[in-house]
Amino acid sequence: MEEDRTLLMRNIHIPRTCEKCGKANPEYKGVGEYKCSECGYIMYDDFGIVRNYLEVHKGATQSEVSKATGVPMETIRQFLRDERLEIVAGSGVFMSCEICRAPIRSGRYCPNCAKAVEERKKAEHASSHKSTMQGFGQANKGASGAKRFTR
Ligand SMILES: [Zn+2]
Ligand SMILES: [Zn+2]
Repeated sequence: MEEDRTLLMRNIHIPRTCEKCGKANPEYKGVGEYKCSECGYIMYDDFGIVRNYLEVHKGATQSEVSKATGVPMETIRQFLRDERLEIVAGSGVFMSCEICRAPIRSGRYCPNCAKAVEERKKAEHASSHKSTMQGFGQANKGASGAKRFTR
């Protein structure tokens, strides 16, 4: 149950007590949603808030979402990068592929580039396993980076 949240624990707001009755430790229900075990009140963390906002405001840009929800841009971008925030169907251009600039709904690359990156990563991994792994971001961050590869 906890592993689903670890990526989010960095610096986002998570409800610790019920906003209605004050009971501690609301139960995590998934996708950023929490429920008070006492009164059943539903609350959201930053992820849930952003997600809810996007469901209603399809096509909102990152800055619009940030302004409306109070969730920092950096946090929103972090969700997108971690592919936790799949932009709801029908939304406008929200992200663009870091390589070819094609509009994408989550992550960092479009499916084509993601595939290419994946293949290059594999090739690099095979050829130079323990020497240099420069060029592909997280792959080079050593122990702390390695730990974040949960998949
Ligand atoms: Zn409550
Ligand atoms: Zn691309």
